[in-house]
Amino acid sequence: MKIYISADIEGVTGATHWDETEKQHSDYKEFQEQMTAEVVAACEGALNAGATEIWVQDAHDTARNIIAAKLPREVRFVRGWSGHPYMMIQALDDTFDALLLVGYHSQGGRNVNPLAHTITRRLVHVKINGQFASELLLKAYAASTLNVPVVFVSGDAGICEQAEALNSHILTVAVKYGVGNSTINIHPHLAVEKIRDSVEAALKKDNSQCNIQLPPHFSIEIRYHRHTDAYRASFFPGAALKAPDTIEFASNDFFDVMRLFLFVA
Ligand SMILES: [Zn+2]
Repeated sequence: MKIYISADIEGVTGATHWDETEKQHSDYKEFQEQMTAEVVAACEGALNAGATEIWVQDAHDTARNIIAAKLPREVRFVRGWSGHPYMMIQALDDTFDALLLVGYHSQGGRNVNPLAHTITRRLVHVKINGQFASELLLKAYAASTLNVPVVFVSGDAGICEQAEALNSHILTVAVKYGVGNSTINIHPHLAVEKIRDSVEAALKKDNSQCNIQLPPHFSIEIRYHRHTDAYRASFFPGAALKAPDTIEFASNDFFDVMRLFLFVA
């Protein structure tokens, strides 16, 4: 069994403020360690379930956060951004049996995490077919083009709710929820235990029903904080200004959508 783990930091237990997610701040270290611990737990759960090959992608900001020496020896570790449109799952291909998302967070347009956003903080929100889209949804659709199912998600309560709404067979571990600019979190050690156990359970069960049906058509709306960013993005082939701060784009091929995000997000 070959599995792929994509990891972010805004959805790990405790993380509440942007300073805690950025290397240059003194309070980053604690959350770098917690992100690492939650990923290690997911790897251990996967090994307990019989995974023979585990790829871990560091998928936050610089993509150079996870402390490599703490990962199990079996792991292949993806650091930095290749420039592939699948971004947070850039090295995924159809040889993988399952995709697991750790430390994921609610999308722009939701209030379940003070750090809620989609792709970059330049964007207010992304909508797909009229619905606010999370990074989880983008990765689940992208993985679906390769026939790889998402089987596990950990992060804030909002993203876990989204995962369950997308497919009720996906197992989730909610480590926190946000209230205004605050978060209410479970203990860091408990988060690690729950992730280890839940990943093991997720990979031991029959995941044939975790596949996600891709919509036949994708209508995309991207709203920016700055109208100047929308103006520039509106020149991407196929994109158009919908409002001074918003562009629209449409395709039947999800790869086109991911390529759009690579260049305009
Ligand atoms: Zn992030």
